[in-house]
Amino acid sequence: MKPSAWIATAVGALVALPAFADGELNLYSARHYDTDERLYSDFEDATGITINRIEGKADELAARLRAEGANSPADVFLTVDTSRLKRAKDLGLLQAIENPTLEARIPANLQDEDNFWFGFSQRARVIFYNKETVTNPPQTYADLADPAYKDKLCIRSSSNVYNQTLLAAMIEHMGEDGAKAWAAGVVDNMARAPQGGDTDQLRGIVSGECEVSVSNTYYFARAMRQDVRGVSSDIDMIGWVFPDQDGHGAHMNLSGGGIAAHAPNRDNAIRFLEYLVSEQAQKYFSDGNDEYPVVEGVALAAPVAAMGEFKADSVNLAKVAENLPAAQRIFDQVGWE
Ligand code: FE
Repeated sequence: MKPSAWIATAVGALVALPAFADGELNLYSARHYDTDERLYSDFEDATGITINRIEGKADELAARLRAEGANSPADVFLTVDTSRLKRAKDLGLLQAIENPTLEARIPANLQDEDNFWFGFSQRARVIFYNKETVTNPPQTYADLADPAYKDKLCIRSSSNVYNQTLLAAMIEHMGEDGAKAWAAGVVDNMARAPQGGDTDQLRGIVSGECEVSVSNTYYFARAMRQDVRGVSSDIDMIGWVFPDQDGHGAHMNLSGGGIAAHAPNRDNAIRFLEYLVSEQAQKYFSDGNDEYPVVEGVALAAPVAAMGEFKADSVNLAKVAENLPAAQRIFDQVGWE
Protein backbone atom coordinates (compact mmCIF):
# COMPACT_ATOMS: atom_id res chain seq x y z
CA MET A 1 0.00 0.00 0.00
CA LYS A 2 1.25 3.51 -0.76
CA PRO A 3 2.01 5.75 2.22
CA SER A 4 -0.92 8.06 1.43
CA ALA A 5 -3.32 5.15 1.46
CA TRP A 6 -1.86 3.91 4.72
CA ILE A 7 -2.34 7.33 6.28
CA ALA A 8 -5.91 7.41 5.04
CA THR A 9 -6.56 4.07 6.74
CA ALA A 10 -4.75 4.93 9.95
CA VAL A 11 -6.39 8.32 10.32
CA GLY A 12 -9.73 6.82 9.46
CA ALA A 13 -9.32 4.28 12.19
CA LEU A 14 -8.57 6.89 14.83
CA VAL A 15 -10.49 9.98 13.86
CA ALA A 16 -14.13 10.16 12.88
CA LEU A 17 -14.69 11.85 9.55
CA PRO A 18 -16.93 14.88 9.55
CA ALA A 19 -20.30 13.68 8.33
CA PHE A 20 -21.94 16.32 6.16
CA ALA A 21 -19.58 18.85 4.63
CA ASP A 22 -20.42 20.76 1.50
CA GLY A 23 -18.02 19.78 -1.24
CA GLU A 24 -16.85 16.55 0.38
CA LEU A 25 -17.34 12.88 -0.22
CA ASN A 26 -16.49 10.11 2.22
CA LEU A 27 -15.43 7.02 0.33
CA TYR A 28 -14.97 3.59 1.89
CA SER A 29 -13.00 1.58 -0.62
CA ALA A 30 -11.76 -1.99 -0.65
CA ARG A 31 -10.13 -1.59 -4.03
CA HIS A 32 -6.42 -2.00 -3.50
CA TYR A 33 -4.91 -0.57 -6.65
CA ASP A 34 -2.46 2.35 -6.59
CA THR A 35 -3.60 3.36 -10.06
CA ASP A 36 -6.97 4.36 -8.59
CA GLU A 37 -5.31 7.58 -7.32
CA ARG A 38 -5.81 9.20 -10.71
CA LEU A 39 -9.40 8.06 -10.79
CA TYR A 40 -10.05 10.00 -7.59
CA SER A 41 -7.93 13.09 -8.25
CA ASP A 42 -9.56 13.71 -11.63
CA PHE A 43 -12.97 13.66 -10.00
CA GLU A 44 -11.75 16.14 -7.40
CA ASP A 45 -10.29 18.42 -10.07
CA ALA A 46 -13.41 18.31 -12.20
CA THR A 47 -15.97 18.83 -9.45
CA GLY A 48 -14.17 20.62 -6.61
CA ILE A 49 -15.44 17.86 -4.32
CA THR A 50 -12.79 16.51 -1.96
CA ILE A 51 -12.72 12.75 -1.50
CA ASN A 52 -11.92 11.58 2.02
CA ARG A 53 -10.85 8.01 1.59
CA ILE A 54 -10.95 5.16 4.07
CA GLU A 55 -9.30 2.09 2.59
CA GLY A 56 -9.35 -1.35 4.07
CA LYS A 57 -10.33 -4.94 3.54
CA ALA A 58 -13.88 -5.36 2.30
CA ASP A 59 -15.09 -7.26 5.34
CA GLU A 60 -13.50 -4.79 7.75
CA LEU A 61 -15.06 -1.85 5.96
CA ALA A 62 -18.44 -3.57 5.97
CA ALA A 63 -18.11 -4.26 9.70
CA ARG A 64 -17.20 -0.64 10.28
CA LEU A 65 -20.19 0.59 8.29
CA ARG A 66 -22.38 -1.70 10.31
CA ALA A 67 -20.97 -0.56 13.64
CA GLU A 68 -21.34 3.09 12.70
CA GLY A 69 -24.95 2.56 11.73
CA ALA A 70 -26.99 5.72 11.18
CA ASN A 71 -24.04 7.84 12.32
CA SER A 72 -21.75 6.56 9.58
CA PRO A 73 -20.03 9.31 7.60
CA ALA A 74 -19.68 6.93 4.64
CA ASP A 75 -21.19 8.12 1.38
CA VAL A 76 -19.96 5.48 -1.07
CA PHE A 77 -18.82 1.89 -0.54
CA LEU A 78 -16.64 0.41 -3.29
CA THR A 79 -15.58 -3.21 -3.28
CA VAL A 80 -14.61 -6.12 -5.43
CA ASP A 81 -16.80 -9.11 -6.19
CA THR A 82 -20.54 -9.51 -6.38
CA SER A 83 -20.60 -11.63 -3.23
CA ARG A 84 -19.51 -8.66 -1.14
CA LEU A 85 -21.87 -6.28 -2.90
CA LYS A 86 -24.73 -8.60 -2.17
CA ARG A 87 -23.63 -9.02 1.44
CA ALA A 88 -23.52 -5.24 1.86
CA LYS A 89 -27.01 -4.96 0.42
CA ASP A 90 -28.35 -7.75 2.63
CA LEU A 91 -26.84 -6.17 5.74
CA GLY A 92 -28.64 -2.90 4.97
CA LEU A 93 -25.39 -1.02 4.38
CA LEU A 94 -26.47 0.41 1.02
CA GLN A 95 -29.42 2.41 -0.29
CA ALA A 96 -31.23 2.06 -3.57
CA ILE A 97 -31.07 4.91 -6.06
CA GLU A 98 -32.98 5.50 -9.26
CA ASN A 99 -30.44 6.92 -11.67
CA PRO A 100 -30.97 7.01 -15.43
CA THR A 101 -27.25 7.46 -16.20
CA LEU A 102 -26.16 4.39 -14.26
CA GLU A 103 -29.17 2.47 -15.49
CA ALA A 104 -28.36 3.21 -19.13
CA ARG A 105 -24.58 2.87 -19.13
CA ILE A 106 -24.18 -0.33 -17.10
CA PRO A 107 -25.45 -3.57 -18.65
CA ALA A 108 -28.44 -4.97 -16.79
CA ASN A 109 -26.65 -8.15 -15.69
CA LEU A 110 -23.96 -6.06 -13.96
CA GLN A 111 -26.19 -4.10 -11.63
CA ASP A 112 -28.48 -4.99 -8.76
CA GLU A 113 -32.08 -5.29 -9.89
CA ASP A 114 -33.18 -3.24 -6.88
CA ASN A 115 -30.53 -0.58 -7.62
CA PHE A 116 -28.55 -1.03 -4.40
CA TRP A 117 -25.25 -1.62 -6.21
CA PHE A 118 -23.68 -1.12 -9.62
CA GLY A 119 -20.73 -2.75 -11.38
CA PHE A 120 -18.03 -0.41 -12.68
CA SER A 121 -15.39 -2.76 -14.05
CA GLN A 122 -14.88 -6.44 -14.73
CA ARG A 123 -12.12 -9.02 -14.88
CA ALA A 124 -12.20 -12.44 -16.46
CA ARG A 125 -11.25 -15.49 -14.37
CA VAL A 126 -9.42 -17.66 -16.86
CA ILE A 127 -7.19 -20.71 -17.26
CA PHE A 128 -3.41 -20.40 -17.59
CA TYR A 129 -1.05 -23.25 -18.47
CA ASN A 130 2.54 -24.18 -19.17
CA LYS A 131 2.86 -24.04 -22.95
CA GLU A 132 5.96 -26.23 -22.87
CA THR A 133 4.43 -29.18 -21.03
CA VAL A 134 0.68 -29.00 -21.58
CA THR A 135 -0.28 -29.86 -25.13
CA ASN A 136 -3.98 -30.15 -24.41
CA PRO A 137 -4.93 -27.32 -22.08
CA PRO A 138 -8.36 -27.33 -20.43
CA GLN A 139 -10.91 -25.50 -22.57
CA THR A 140 -13.67 -25.26 -20.00
CA TYR A 141 -14.03 -24.87 -16.24
CA ALA A 142 -15.45 -28.40 -16.29
CA ASP A 143 -12.15 -29.61 -17.78
CA LEU A 144 -10.33 -28.44 -14.64
CA ALA A 145 -11.92 -31.45 -12.93
CA ASP A 146 -10.82 -33.88 -15.67
CA PRO A 147 -8.50 -36.61 -14.25
CA ALA A 148 -6.18 -35.85 -17.19
CA TYR A 149 -4.96 -32.92 -15.07
CA LYS A 150 -4.44 -34.89 -11.86
CA ASP A 151 -1.81 -33.27 -9.62
CA LYS A 152 -1.29 -30.48 -12.14
CA LEU A 153 -3.67 -27.78 -11.04
CA CYS A 154 -2.96 -24.76 -8.83
CA ILE A 155 -5.88 -22.69 -7.61
CA ARG A 156 -6.51 -20.43 -4.62
CA SER A 157 -8.26 -21.39 -1.44
CA SER A 158 -12.01 -21.47 -0.95
CA SER A 159 -11.77 -18.43 1.32
CA ASN A 160 -11.03 -16.37 -1.78
CA VAL A 161 -14.09 -14.48 -3.05
CA TYR A 162 -13.12 -14.93 -6.68
CA ASN A 163 -13.38 -18.69 -6.28
CA GLN A 164 -16.53 -18.43 -4.18
CA THR A 165 -18.27 -16.55 -6.94
CA LEU A 166 -16.86 -18.85 -9.62
CA LEU A 167 -18.35 -21.86 -7.82
CA ALA A 168 -21.61 -19.95 -7.31
CA ALA A 169 -21.69 -19.43 -11.08
CA MET A 170 -20.99 -23.14 -11.65
CA ILE A 171 -23.99 -23.92 -9.43
CA GLU A 172 -26.10 -21.57 -11.55
CA HIS A 173 -25.06 -23.41 -14.72
CA MET A 174 -24.77 -27.05 -13.57
CA GLY A 175 -26.98 -27.25 -10.52
CA GLU A 176 -25.74 -28.02 -7.03
CA ASP A 177 -24.95 -31.70 -7.61
CA GLY A 178 -23.01 -31.01 -10.77
CA ALA A 179 -21.06 -28.21 -9.12
CA LYS A 180 -20.23 -30.42 -6.17
CA ALA A 181 -18.87 -33.17 -8.42
CA TRP A 182 -16.87 -30.53 -10.26
CA ALA A 183 -15.40 -29.08 -7.07
CA ALA A 184 -14.45 -32.58 -5.87
CA GLY A 185 -12.68 -33.17 -9.18
CA VAL A 186 -10.79 -29.90 -8.87
CA VAL A 187 -9.62 -30.86 -5.38
CA ASP A 188 -8.44 -34.22 -6.77
CA ASN A 189 -6.40 -32.44 -9.41
CA MET A 190 -4.65 -30.00 -7.10
CA ALA A 191 -0.86 -30.01 -7.39
CA ARG A 192 -0.56 -28.52 -3.92
CA ALA A 193 -2.74 -27.30 -1.08
CA PRO A 194 -4.24 -23.95 -2.08
CA GLN A 195 -1.94 -21.08 -1.23
CA GLY A 196 -1.26 -17.46 -2.13
CA GLY A 197 -2.99 -14.99 -4.37
CA ASP A 198 -3.73 -15.04 -8.09
CA THR A 199 -0.16 -14.00 -8.99
CA ASP A 200 1.16 -16.96 -6.98
CA GLN A 201 -0.83 -19.31 -9.22
CA LEU A 202 1.01 -17.83 -12.21
CA ARG A 203 4.33 -18.09 -10.34
CA GLY A 204 3.54 -21.76 -9.80
CA ILE A 205 3.55 -22.33 -13.55
CA VAL A 206 6.93 -20.64 -13.93
CA SER A 207 8.43 -22.55 -10.99
CA GLY A 208 7.14 -25.84 -12.39
CA GLU A 209 4.95 -26.61 -9.38
CA CYS A 210 1.80 -26.26 -11.43
CA GLU A 211 1.01 -26.92 -15.05
CA VAL A 212 -2.45 -25.43 -15.07
CA SER A 213 -3.77 -22.61 -12.93
CA VAL A 214 -6.61 -20.14 -12.57
CA SER A 215 -6.22 -16.39 -12.22
CA ASN A 216 -7.96 -13.15 -13.01
CA THR A 217 -6.77 -11.59 -16.25
CA TYR A 218 -5.41 -8.37 -14.78
CA TYR A 219 -2.72 -10.16 -12.78
CA PHE A 220 -1.35 -11.62 -15.99
CA ALA A 221 -1.72 -8.33 -17.89
CA ARG A 222 0.21 -6.58 -15.13
CA ALA A 223 3.04 -9.10 -15.47
CA MET A 224 3.19 -8.28 -19.18
CA ARG A 225 3.25 -4.56 -18.48
CA GLN A 226 5.74 -4.39 -15.61
CA ASP A 227 8.23 -6.63 -13.85
CA VAL A 228 6.32 -9.01 -11.58
CA ARG A 229 8.75 -11.22 -9.67
CA GLY A 230 8.66 -14.87 -10.69
CA VAL A 231 6.33 -14.30 -13.62
CA SER A 232 7.44 -11.60 -16.06
CA SER A 233 10.89 -13.01 -16.88
CA ASP A 234 9.32 -16.27 -18.09
CA ILE A 235 5.96 -15.03 -19.22
CA ASP A 236 6.37 -16.51 -22.69
CA MET A 237 5.99 -20.00 -21.27
CA ILE A 238 2.50 -19.18 -19.98
CA GLY A 239 -0.47 -19.73 -22.27
CA TRP A 240 -4.07 -18.79 -21.52
CA VAL A 241 -7.51 -20.06 -22.37
CA PHE A 242 -10.72 -18.07 -22.10
CA PRO A 243 -12.92 -20.94 -20.89
CA ASP A 244 -16.28 -22.12 -22.14
CA GLN A 245 -16.20 -20.27 -25.43
CA ASP A 246 -18.62 -22.81 -26.90
CA GLY A 247 -20.76 -22.62 -23.78
CA HIS A 248 -21.61 -19.90 -21.30
CA GLY A 249 -18.37 -17.98 -21.78
CA ALA A 250 -15.61 -16.91 -19.41
CA HIS A 251 -16.57 -16.17 -15.81
CA MET A 252 -16.41 -12.47 -15.02
CA ASN A 253 -15.62 -10.96 -11.67
CA LEU A 254 -17.16 -7.60 -10.94
CA SER A 255 -15.89 -4.56 -9.07
CA GLY A 256 -18.61 -2.20 -8.03
CA GLY A 257 -20.26 -0.23 -5.30
CA GLY A 258 -23.20 1.73 -4.11
CA ILE A 259 -24.34 4.57 -1.95
CA ALA A 260 -24.06 4.03 1.79
CA ALA A 261 -27.36 3.64 3.58
CA HIS A 262 -26.97 6.83 5.62
CA ALA A 263 -24.83 8.87 3.22
CA PRO A 264 -24.61 12.42 4.58
CA ASN A 265 -23.36 13.76 1.23
CA ARG A 266 -25.77 11.87 -0.98
CA ASP A 267 -25.75 14.28 -3.92
CA ASN A 268 -21.96 14.16 -4.14
CA ALA A 269 -22.11 10.39 -3.87
CA ILE A 270 -24.44 10.23 -6.86
CA ARG A 271 -22.14 12.49 -8.85
CA PHE A 272 -19.25 10.19 -8.00
CA LEU A 273 -21.06 7.06 -9.18
CA GLU A 274 -22.05 8.87 -12.39
CA TYR A 275 -18.41 9.83 -12.84
CA LEU A 276 -17.36 6.17 -12.50
CA VAL A 277 -19.32 5.30 -15.64
CA SER A 278 -17.94 8.27 -17.59
CA GLU A 279 -15.61 7.56 -20.50
CA GLN A 280 -12.71 9.05 -18.55
CA ALA A 281 -13.16 6.95 -15.42
CA GLN A 282 -13.83 3.81 -17.43
CA LYS A 283 -10.48 4.38 -19.13
CA TYR A 284 -8.76 4.39 -15.75
CA PHE A 285 -10.19 1.02 -14.91
CA SER A 286 -8.96 -0.17 -18.25
CA ASP A 287 -5.55 1.55 -18.60
CA GLY A 288 -4.76 1.84 -14.92
CA ASN A 289 -5.66 -1.62 -13.70
CA ASP A 290 -6.08 -3.73 -16.82
CA GLU A 291 -9.75 -4.30 -16.12
CA TYR A 292 -12.59 -4.58 -18.61
CA PRO A 293 -14.75 -1.46 -18.63
CA VAL A 294 -18.48 -2.07 -18.17
CA VAL A 295 -19.41 0.74 -20.55
CA GLU A 296 -19.43 -0.34 -24.15
CA GLY A 297 -16.97 1.21 -26.58
CA VAL A 298 -14.23 2.09 -24.07
CA ALA A 299 -10.84 0.88 -25.32
CA LEU A 300 -8.96 -1.91 -23.56
CA ALA A 301 -5.41 -1.49 -22.26
CA ALA A 302 -2.78 -2.86 -24.67
CA PRO A 303 -1.84 -6.01 -22.70
CA VAL A 304 -5.51 -6.82 -22.14
CA ALA A 305 -6.32 -6.31 -25.80
CA ALA A 306 -3.34 -8.55 -26.63
CA MET A 307 -4.99 -11.42 -24.75
CA GLY A 308 -7.66 -11.35 -27.40
CA GLU A 309 -11.40 -11.12 -27.71
CA PHE A 310 -13.59 -13.64 -26.02
CA LYS A 311 -17.11 -14.46 -25.03
CA ALA A 312 -17.93 -13.40 -21.48
CA ASP A 313 -20.48 -15.20 -19.36
CA SER A 314 -23.48 -12.90 -19.21
CA VAL A 315 -25.18 -14.74 -16.36
CA ASN A 316 -26.87 -12.40 -13.92
CA LEU A 317 -24.32 -11.88 -11.17
CA ALA A 318 -26.88 -10.85 -8.58
CA LYS A 319 -28.57 -14.19 -9.14
CA VAL A 320 -25.24 -16.00 -8.92
CA ALA A 321 -24.57 -14.33 -5.58
CA GLU A 322 -27.64 -16.06 -4.16
CA ASN A 323 -25.77 -19.37 -4.59
CA LEU A 324 -22.95 -18.32 -2.27
CA PRO A 325 -24.19 -20.20 0.82
CA ALA A 326 -24.49 -23.36 -1.31
CA ALA A 327 -20.98 -22.74 -2.68
CA GLN A 328 -19.60 -22.51 0.84
CA ARG A 329 -21.33 -25.78 1.74
CA ILE A 330 -19.80 -27.51 -1.27
CA PHE A 331 -16.30 -26.21 -0.51
CA ASP A 332 -16.60 -27.68 2.99
CA GLN A 333 -18.03 -30.98 1.75
CA VAL A 334 -15.32 -31.62 -0.83
CA GLY A 335 -12.48 -30.43 1.40
CA TRP A 336 -11.36 -27.51 -0.77
CA GLU A 337 -9.14 -25.78 1.77
FE1 FE B 1 -7.48 -8.99 -7.17
